[in-house]
Amino acid sequence: MTTSMKDVIALSKRRGFIFQSSEIYGGLNGFWDYGPLGVELKRNLKNAWWRDMVSSHNELVCAEGAPQEFAMTGIDASIVMHPQVWKCSGHYDLFFDYMVDCRESKKRYRHDQVRGRWVEAKGRRIFVTTVAEADDEAEAVLRRALKFFNVRASHAEELKWIGGFQSLADAGDPASVLGPDASEVGTLTEPREFNLMFKTNVGALSADDNTAYLRPETAQGIFVNFKNVLNSLRIRIPFGIAQIGKSFRNEITPRNYTFRSREFEQMEIEFFCHPGESEMWYRYWRDRRVQWYRDLGLSSGKLRLREHAREELSHYSNGTADIEYAFPFLPEGEFGELEGIAHRGDFDLRSHMEGKLAPGTRPLQLEVDEHGKPKYRGSGKDLSYRDEITGEKFIPHVIEPSAGADRAALAFLCDAFHQDQAPDDSGKMEPRIVLRLHPRLAPVKAAILPLVKKGGMPEIARKIYAALKKQCNVFYDEKDSIGRRYRRQDEIGTPYCITIDSDTLSDGTVTLRDRDSLQQRRIPVERCDEELQRLLT
Ligand code: ATP
Repeated sequence: MTTSMKDVIALSKRRGFIFQSSEIYGGLNGFWDYGPLGVELKRNLKNAWWRDMVSSHNELVCAEGAPQEFAMTGIDASIVMHPQVWKCSGHYDLFFDYMVDCRESKKRYRHDQVRGRWVEAKGRRIFVTTVAEADDEAEAVLRRALKFFNVRASHAEELKWIGGFQSLADAGDPASVLGPDASEVGTLTEPREFNLMFKTNVGALSADDNTAYLRPETAQGIFVNFKNVLNSLRIRIPFGIAQIGKSFRNEITPRNYTFRSREFEQMEIEFFCHPGESEMWYRYWRDRRVQWYRDLGLSSGKLRLREHAREELSHYSNGTADIEYAFPFLPEGEFGELEGIAHRGDFDLRSHMEGKLAPGTRPLQLEVDEHGKPKYRGSGKDLSYRDEITGEKFIPHVIEPSAGADRAALAFLCDAFHQDQAPDDSGKMEPRIVLRLHPRLAPVKAAILPLVKKGGMPEIARKIYAALKKQCNVFYDEKDSIGRRYRRQDEIGTPYCITIDSDTLSDGTVTLRDRDSLQQRRIPVERCDEELQRLLT
C-alpha cells in the first residue's frame, strides 16, 4: 500500500510529532512546532548526524573511502550576523525567488509553483491555474474551469482539455491565464524578484542603518569563523567545520507540510581542502552523505543521488549533487531535495576577504560599481591558509554538504509509515499502523509493560523502567489490554516492548517483542539493560 501524506499528517498530529505553530490562533503559514515525540525524533536525527559526522570521527585513521585522514570539528554561530556578511555572500542581491501578484485576489504566488492546464469551452481557450498540491491539482483545476465557464459538473465533457499540466512559466499568453484565486483571466502580474531574507532591526531604533537579517543558511557563520577555528585549534587542512542551527527564509508559498517552511533547521558542513584535492573530496562527501541516509534505513528505491548538469550549477560551483527523496506529496516519479553537496571552490572565503564576486565571471572577479570600486567590500582579512609543513599558501577550496533537519525528519517519518496486520489479544489479525523507524531515530526505544496491574508485575516493571530510563528514553504503560498497548507503541515506532507476565514471577524472565518481526523471546530481567544497549547501537 502506498503511503498517503494525509495519513502521515493525521498520525503526526494525533500522536504528537508535529503541530501547526500557534494553532489556537489559526496557525501561521510556514511555521511548525515539534510535539513530545517529534522533538525526540528530530533531536535523535541531529544527534546521529553530529555523532556520525563530528564527535565520533577519528582523525588519526583514514575513513573508508576518504582520500586521506581528516579532522572534524563544530561551532554554533549566532543567527543574526553583520549585514555585510550577506552583501558579500551574494544573498542580499541574489537570494530571491520570482513571484507573481494577482490584481484581483491580492494574493501572491511563487512563479514556479503555479501550474495549470489549457482548456477550451464555449468558444474560449484559457489556462486554468492552481497552487494545489499534486494530489489535488486535477480536481482543483476542473472545479475552477467548470465555474469559469458556468458548466455543471454533470456536463464536464463540454470542457476540452488541451495537453497536460504545465508550469505558468511555460504557458505564455498572460491575458488568457486564470489566476489560482481569480474569477477573471489576465489578472496576474509579470514575475518579479522577491528576496527571501527576513529583515529585522538591531537595537531600539528602526532605521535603515541597523537593518539586519535572520540567517537564511548556517554556512556563512562557518566561513566567517574559518580563521578563528584554525587559530584556536591549530588544525591542519583538510578539515571540516559542522554546524546545526535554525535558518529562516521568507518563502513566498510555504507548502508540503514541513518540507518548505519559513523557519527550519540545517545541518551543514564546510569542508576545507587543498584546491588540487577538492574533486576527490567532493566525491567522497557526496557518496558518504547518501550512504548516511541509507544506513539509517531510508529505502533505497525512494532515495536517489542526482548530479547537477553543467547548466544547472551555480556560477561558482564546480559540481553539485542533490540527495533526493520521493516524498508522498510529489507526483509519481518526482523527488524532493533532502540535501545538497556542492563543490564551492574558493568562492566563499574569497568573498569574505575581497568582497562580493561578480556572478558569471570565470575566473571569479570582484563586482564593481560605476566608479570601479568594489560593490560590497569584504572584511579585508587574510583568510588564506599556510601549510606549516610544505610552506605553501593558498585559499582552501570548500565542499559543502548542506542538509535540512526538518526535511530529513519528514522523509524518515514518511518512509517509516506502514500499514500491515498484527495479532490482537485473542490472536486474530488486525490492521495496524507501524512506524518502522531505525532504533537510533525512534523517539521511544522500549516500552515497559506489566501484563496486568496486579500480582507484583507492576513492581518488577517499575524497577526495570527505572534502570533503563537511566540509559535511554523508555516508556512505562500499564493502561488497557496488552494488544492495545503494543499497537500504541507500533504507531510511534518504538522498536522493542518488554512485557512482564506471570512467568516473570516464577522464572525471572520477560518477553522482548520486536516491532517489525513481531517475534517475542524471553530474556532474564537482569539482562534487559545490556540487551537493549546491544540492540540500539
Ligand atoms: P529548495 O530548492 O528546495 O528551495 P535549496 O536548494 O534552496 O532548496 P539549500 O539552500 O541548498 O536549499 O539548503 C540546504 C538544505 O536546507 C536543503 O537541502 C533543505 O534540506 C533545507 N532547506 C532549504 N530550504 C528549506 C525550507 N524552506 N524548509 C525546510 N528546509 C529547507
